[in-house]
Amino acid sequence: PMPPSPPPSPTSPVPPRAPSPARPSSPPPSPISIMKIAVFSAKPYDREYLSRARDGAYVSVELVFHDFALSRETVSLAKGAQAICVFVNDTLSEDVLEDLHNLDIHAILLRCAGFNHVDLKAADRLRIFVANVPSYSPEAVAEFALALIQTLNRKTHRAYNRVREGNFSLDGLLGKTLHGKTVGIVGVGKIGIALARILRGFGCKLIAHDPYPTDAFLEFGKYASLDELLPQCDFISLHCPLTESTRHIINDQSLAKIKKGAMLVNTSRGGLIHTKSAIAALKNQQLGGLALDVYEAEGQLFYQDHSGDIIQDDELMRLMTFPNVIVCGHQAFFTEEALTEIAECTLKNFSDFIQNMPCKNALVSLGSSLVRKDSVPVRI
Ligand code: NAD
Repeated sequence: PMPPSPPPSPTSPVPPRAPSPARPSSPPPSPISIMKIAVFSAKPYDREYLSRARDGAYVSVELVFHDFALSRETVSLAKGAQAICVFVNDTLSEDVLEDLHNLDIHAILLRCAGFNHVDLKAADRLRIFVANVPSYSPEAVAEFALALIQTLNRKTHRAYNRVREGNFSLDGLLGKTLHGKTVGIVGVGKIGIALARILRGFGCKLIAHDPYPTDAFLEFGKYASLDELLPQCDFISLHCPLTESTRHIINDQSLAKIKKGAMLVNTSRGGLIHTKSAIAALKNQQLGGLALDVYEAEGQLFYQDHSGDIIQDDELMRLMTFPNVIVCGHQAFFTEEALTEIAECTLKNFSDFIQNMPCKNALVSLGSSLVRKDSVPVRI
């Protein structure tokens, strides 16, 4: 459930209201114009969970769903909304933000934690509020990373297909006992720590690399530099954000340093891995397995059904020919609990924004009044 509503702001464009469990699915007409959020990349599950959260929210808001992504071509469809709501593969480059600004849209609500796809500098310059959902069930992602480690290691993806063909041979399915193995976690924030907690239960030895170490990891293992971590680990799992300093952190040089045959799992962001280098390391068997939930060029493919298409991404298609590669379509977050949290937090961020309340999830916040282009002063 949503936390209690903050007190109404005197300048709030929409007064907060008590939640009504019996509220109809579309808000009743109101003399005050109802705020609108244009939701891009809206899948059926986004509609379901956001509508449910809206019905229990403290602000009246209309959700306008678009199943396509936000881009230069689609941005005009946001017209009439006060905010847009977007996901990981929507385009939030400077020119799209300029277009949003020209459409009088002052808020971007990210339904995700990562914000590497948002030009925050431009948003700040254009005075567009940006908020994310910094934590939605980190355990959901950590549990998926563990599922990938064990699928890759115990080859259940191959066993699944094999037995359906009536082939019960074990040849080629040999794995390693996870107990006693060394796992490297690159980035021990919320998800990395959740994974550490799980792996401790498996009896693994844990090493973390994080340029901002905290005491939280010390009960699970020790910190090391990336260069020290790489040669020691049987499995490496990436949980750092994608930034200019982490882009292609897994490249020819770093792959040359890993223990031969080590397995790599990426549930963070595709850009952390230089795909060509990973292909080369898989070919020469330096890399013993690769499980990806995210992929550098996923924006063109993920979250869509391309089963009848000729996929043009040769690197992805090459990756998928390896028996020791697993690719999933960015689903680590995808649990009922996480979708509920994402929807409720997104609407709470919007509620903070329209009531000019401090928003703890703001990446770009606006603390002052802003004069709209139509010259009506509004506080946002
Ligand atoms: P977080 O901010 O809590 O933790 C990130 C950690 O990475 C921090 O401790 C930070 O210090 C560390 N870090 C920063 N630079 C680093 C570097 N160069 N090397 C190593 N560590 C570094 O974030 P989180 O909630 O744990 O999420 C981690 C990432 O997971 C997000 O950035 C997001 O991209 C990704 N994610 C993916 C999914 C999915 O469905 N696949 C879902 C949620 C989040």
